[in-house]
Amino acid sequence: MHVVVLPGDGIGPEIVAVTEAVLGAVSQRFQLGIATKHDIAGQESIAKYGKAVRPELVEIVRQADGLLLGPTSTLDYAGEPGPSAVFRKALDLFANIRPARTYPGLPGRVGAMDLVVVRENTEGFYADRNMAHGNADILVTDDVAIAIRKITRQGSERIARAGFELAMRRPRRRVTLVHKANVLTTSDGLFLAACRDVAKDFPEVTVEEIIVDAMMAHVVRNPAHFDVIVTTNMFGDILSDLTAEMSGSLGMGGSINAGTRYAMAQAAHGSAPDIAGRDLANPMSLVLSAAQLLDWHARRAGKPRFGEAAKAIENAVAACLEAGEKTRDVGGTQGTRAVGAALVKRLSA
Ligand code: NAD
Repeated sequence: MHVVVLPGDGIGPEIVAVTEAVLGAVSQRFQLGIATKHDIAGQESIAKYGKAVRPELVEIVRQADGLLLGPTSTLDYAGEPGPSAVFRKALDLFANIRPARTYPGLPGRVGAMDLVVVRENTEGFYADRNMAHGNADILVTDDVAIAIRKITRQGSERIARAGFELAMRRPRRRVTLVHKANVLTTSDGLFLAACRDVAKDFPEVTVEEIIVDAMMAHVVRNPAHFDVIVTTNMFGDILSDLTAEMSGSLGMGGSINAGTRYAMAQAAHGSAPDIAGRDLANPMSLVLSAAQLLDWHARRAGKPRFGEAAKAIENAVAACLEAGEKTRDVGGTQGTRAVGAALVKRLSA
């Protein structure tokens, strides 16, 4: 398996180094033949090439079996599209899968939970995704700005299908559709109608619909109720930061961005400049993202050993949390590197 590795900005290089060591450990143990190839994106690429992602890099990623992207400081790019946006759009990575769960060694802030936010990734209120040319985040006059939110039937159907298929692989088989169709009657009305159509193909799955603002209360009140949550781009982005933090920390927020041919492992959080370079970052978010990438590859390429490696990584994360081998954001005392070494030791045993 060929994986392109882009360390990113801020805490990116620190958590990417741990994740690569974990991939090396499982590659050896499960004989996966994972080969990583380093390149640059983000601030280093802007300094060198004048772009956060140069066009050739997209082609390099297309030739690989997966991409591992460290978080990037997009807010500092002065309008230059960030690597997430470039890869999600260029590789049509429409499904952003963001699990949030508690563990015996990490009971969560509001009780036990094991849910997955399935977020549409290529349209919605991400105005940079919505135009053939240019950006739909528009300055009309110096004092008036508008942004265009695009919802399509095809985009809604394919994210719904990804969510229902995921629910079928989980024991509880429940899908919650999160929307704002009471106000965005046309666009979220279309999203809901498309999801309801897809639901007809999955009669074993229990379906419910919750308005996004009320969802914030429901998910905090009773997180254990939720299984798979399907929603549009911006709602999913916000909701998944909340659910990651509810599970213990944003630093536990793993995620994969998947299309039909390509996938990118990427933590749910940003580059955390407030803790960068201080050995404080929780690497588990990106480590769990890499596990998701291996699981995706297992199913896509029909190679169950990659799925076993993904499971072993999840078990090592659980064991580290239980043994207190964890960073400060989740109540531990260890640094990023020490947690990485603990994970590698468990995976090599
Ligand atoms: P952030 O997600 O970087 O940080 C929010 C809070 O969570 C901070 O207190 C941070 O220290 C903490 N945190 C995040 N990851 C952590 C980890 N692994 N371990 C421990 N604590 C962690 O959000 P922000 O500060 O608003 O954004 C910083 C930069 O990241 C901005 O430039 C933003 O545009 C960018 N960003 C990038 C991505 C991405 O690359 N996908 C996503 C979100 C934000």
